Amino acid sequence: MTGRTHDTAALTALIVATILYPPASLTLATALLALLANQIGGITPDIDQPTAPFWRNLPAEGFFGKFFDKLLGGHRFLTHSLIGVAALAWLARWLLEFLRPIMHHVDITLVWYAFVIGLVSHLVMDTFTKEGVPWLLPIPFKFGLPPVKALRVTTGHFVENLIIFPGLILLDIWLIAQHYQALHAFIRSHLGS
Ligand SMILES: [Zn+2]
Repeated sequence: MTGRTHDTAALTALIVATILYPPASLTLATALLALLANQIGGITPDIDQPTAPFWRNLPAEGFFGKFFDKLLGGHRFLTHSLIGVAALAWLARWLLEFLRPIMHHVDITLVWYAFVIGLVSHLVMDTFTKEGVPWLLPIPFKFGLPPVKALRVTTGHFVENLIIFPGLILLDIWLIAQHYQALHAFIRSHLGS
């Protein structure tokens, strides 16, 4: 899937999680950083892809991209598995703890949840693509839905661009409209003062 589909899927997953498990308290700083962490989480597994948007913004992109490609075993390998998700989540937690002294009014745990939700949504979305996802590494089997490869999505092709991507946006609009009263009350009580 492309970066924008992953970002939209990460946001959708975050909205669903917030509706199902509204946090007991939320500051504006936490909300903004959680959104950012969620979007970063949504594209992080593709650091193993030399042409990932993640690397395109860095100087010497080719070098870093290829270096991590080798280190992580090539595209759709370590960072696209449960072990990889656990390692990335652990790293993110460590980084957030490290930054804690400068993160005033921020609930680090909520920001971390938002990041992990983004990570997991990435693997779920990639599961619908032709390549599949090696969820259970070191068991070298790539899982895909539906199991028949021919029925799965090709990254960047019309099914993704014309159905999945706009579908996720429509789903977000629908979710927000459905839960508007609850969201409004939530924002008023948590962010209003
Ligand atoms: Zn991916």
